[in-house]
Amino acid sequence: MIHFDNSYARLPEGFFTRTRPTPVRDPRLIALNRPLAERLGLDAEWLASPAGIAILAGNDLPKGAEPIAQAYAGHQFGGFVPQLGDGRAVLLGEVVAPDGARFDIQLKGAGPTPFSRRGDGRAWLGPVLREYLVSEFMAAVGIPTTRALAAVTTGETVIRETLLPGAVLTRIASSHIRVGTFEFYAARGDRERLELLTKHVIARHYPQAANAGDLLELVVRRQAATIAGWMALGFIHGVMNTDNMSVSGETIDYGPCAFMDGYHPNKVFSSIDAYGRYAWSEQPKIAVWNLAQLASCLVPLMGNDDASIAEATRIVHSFPEIYQAEWLARFAAKLGISTPRAGDRVLIEGLLTLMAADEADFTRVFAGLSDGSARAEFADPTSFDAWAKDWHARIRNLADAPQIMGRANPRRIPRNHRIEEVIASAREGDYAPFHALEAALCAPYEDRPDWGDYAQAPRPE
Ligand code: AMP
Ligand code: MG
Ligand code: MG
Repeated sequence: MIHFDNSYARLPEGFFTRTRPTPVRDPRLIALNRPLAERLGLDAEWLASPAGIAILAGNDLPKGAEPIAQAYAGHQFGGFVPQLGDGRAVLLGEVVAPDGARFDIQLKGAGPTPFSRRGDGRAWLGPVLREYLVSEFMAAVGIPTTRALAAVTTGETVIRETLLPGAVLTRIASSHIRVGTFEFYAARGDRERLELLTKHVIARHYPQAANAGDLLELVVRRQAATIAGWMALGFIHGVMNTDNMSVSGETIDYGPCAFMDGYHPNKVFSSIDAYGRYAWSEQPKIAVWNLAQLASCLVPLMGNDDASIAEATRIVHSFPEIYQAEWLARFAAKLGISTPRAGDRVLIEGLLTLMAADEADFTRVFAGLSDGSARAEFADPTSFDAWAKDWHARIRNLADAPQIMGRANPRRIPRNHRIEEVIASAREGDYAPFHALEAALCAPYEDRPDWGDYAQAPRPE
């Protein structure tokens, strides 16, 4: 039993199309996130039963669901696409958790929708397992993110470069409303729906906002915090298109994302990002670019005159200052400093410069500051030693430094070579490596002897 309260599906015509998931041949549960089910007030035993699995695969609709595909537009790699929308995801509805928080339940890979264009509406097992692991790791380290409630295989194949096993991910988000959702109506000059959407988002995510300008300001703040969180993990989103930027501030759409192994600020991950638009170091700038698109959408609701343009510009331009403060707080904590001072930025940047020179492993260096093993990550440890002298001087009198560092530096990250191993085993029907990696990623600050391997950087090959 799921207690739905579908506020988005109650919006008038033009925000979505009513679309049912397409049933699959032979659904099997491969992962169920029991702690998340509990957090949502859902019965995990029931979800794991045949009746629950049928719902997670899209073969059956739970009572109270009002399945829809949401309309949105978006700037993809800088070019505007006026019509995107959920091409392979179906929103079953919204649940209100016991604590009052509202969440979307969405099936990703649930079959074609009116927005599918040439796509098949499906997902294959690899990206489903990848999104499951990475989004649950992000949640475990406290970065705002969509979550993974469950993954099922479909018993069907999907055609990519080869034939691959199909899967469906049940994704949980505080909403799936994107910058691109606003762009959809703004581009059409549909002021009525733009206003309705703004009201909906304010009521749902930012009740403290009195108007569109306040909304913009709050989205800017949340995004600045989220992106600073990514940077402090060495995370590269890979496809920061405006349709992949949530107005709630949650990280969304784990497509070709990656955590850096060897650190270099210009690291790109996505193979489709040939020009490095979405490289690690570009992410705060791209966030500003995306937020400027949101600002353009909201100007008509802010007065549509020179004063409102100036106000929207001012708000977007407040991003760097907020972001810099978040960045400083995050990186200072990684060095054991809970209350950063002005000079700490130089200390942090000094370490990052040394790391970049050697492409030292991002996660291992920071985690290794706690136990002295960081030094071994550098080809020439003498420069590191000189830096460490200044650092030790800075934290000498900070009694809480070890605890602060322990909570700011995960011992392990979802490394791509590990995820690929898990996917290869899963394709052979062995999900034990997936479950083992999931357990290790969901306790990122704990050490356990059998988790040591997950902290290793990949060998060159
Ligand atoms: P993404 O690059 O994942 O942000 O997706 C961009 C757009 O392509 C979204 O509208 C997706 O719904 C759509 N899309 C991606 N993969 C598929 C697919 N296999 N079938 C249909 N639509 C898809
Ligand atoms: Mg997307
Ligand atoms: Mg995607």
